Amino acid sequence: MDHSYQLETLAVREGQARSQFNEHSEALYLTSSYVFDSAAQAAARFSGEEEGNVYSRFTNPTVSVFQQRLAALEGAEDCVATSSGMSAILSLVMALCSSGDHIVASTGMFGATQQLLGNIMTRFGVRTTFVSQTDAAAWAAAIEPATKLFFLETPSNPLTEIADIAALVQIAHARGIIVAVDNCFCTPILQRPLDLGVDLVVHSATKYLDGQGRVLGGAVAGSKKLTDEVLKFLRTAGPTLSAFNAWILLKGLETLKIRMEAQSASALQLARWLEAHPKVARVYYPGLPSHPQYELAQRQQTSGGAIVAFEVKGARDEAWKVVDSCRLLSITANLGDTKTTLTHPASTTHGRITPEQRAAAGITEALLRVAVGLEAVVDLQEDLERGLSGI
Ligand SMILES: *Cc1c(COP(=O)(O)O)cnc(C)c1O
Repeated sequence: MDHSYQLETLAVREGQARSQFNEHSEALYLTSSYVFDSAAQAAARFSGEEEGNVYSRFTNPTVSVFQQRLAALEGAEDCVATSSGMSAILSLVMALCSSGDHIVASTGMFGATQQLLGNIMTRFGVRTTFVSQTDAAAWAAAIEPATKLFFLETPSNPLTEIADIAALVQIAHARGIIVAVDNCFCTPILQRPLDLGVDLVVHSATKYLDGQGRVLGGAVAGSKKLTDEVLKFLRTAGPTLSAFNAWILLKGLETLKIRMEAQSASALQLARWLEAHPKVARVYYPGLPSHPQYELAQRQQTSGGAIVAFEVKGARDEAWKVVDSCRLLSITANLGDTKTTLTHPASTTHGRITPEQRAAAGITEALLRVAVGLEAVVDLQEDLERGLSGI
């Protein structure tokens, strides 16, 4: 499709190829394998001489529509879908790094990403140095001769710290280092890292791309040269996105823009209300002028996003009181849903990392994270007020 179309048009139309039945909505192809016309064609498909489907571990028409659509939204040449966000990150690291290689990543990343890079990958000889998201000089200082990859997630989870993508790209590219950005929180609607020079974008499609909390999925988007490396790993190792999940996700993309804009607008409203609340010690939201990287966020993102973190006055007891007083907000660690969710990161998403790692990441016992959905903001405020006023 012509990529001069606007994002919302690409989100609805890109990648669709109608079958012989001329269906209007995208078809769901539930098939593990494909039939060839002849022995010669089978051989040509297996060798890669002829393009076409072979086996759904590496190609499926429904998965292809999702991949093309997301690639168009990110401004990427190509995209590889995976079974989850974590398998996207695993596939990227397995595809690009070998034993002896080194990664620089930020301290404030998603808990499982910290586990993967900080514990599991080290067993295979791939080391990671964690540095502050917001300190570009620390990224430069962490570079070693073996550094292969900068991996960042901006805004970070849950504190919404913003990395200066263009500045880190400049530092990395001067040393031949690949830069990957986890764009889960913003999605291409609010931030397009590839436009800022990044090499690869990673997604947990489980979050906003689905947007309705139904399925797990992930993706890696970027140049064909790099995504082909990821595909090679996927083809052999198999953390593939299922056709059914791809179908859910590509329909999710169709409403991504209106959801992101509505949820971000509500988040800003809620953040302002929380900031003025007497029982709230601090609010972390990139759309508030009080955010330490407000200027950068204004430049790099089209809005503050839908995640608001805040510290209550007190510690774990007070934070848990707010959680337990809610009747509407869902107590769950998921985010990116139309239903607003409330999490106590220190005891859930970031519960498996050590207290020292938690302290380094700035995650206190008083911290709560709200992932704002599509409910009316007044109803969300009323629900939080019950717990807050009880502190
Ligand atoms: C959820 C999440 C992941 C992991 O994605 P899954 O689909 O749950 O495997 C990675 N990065 C970020 C920022 C996330 O929020």
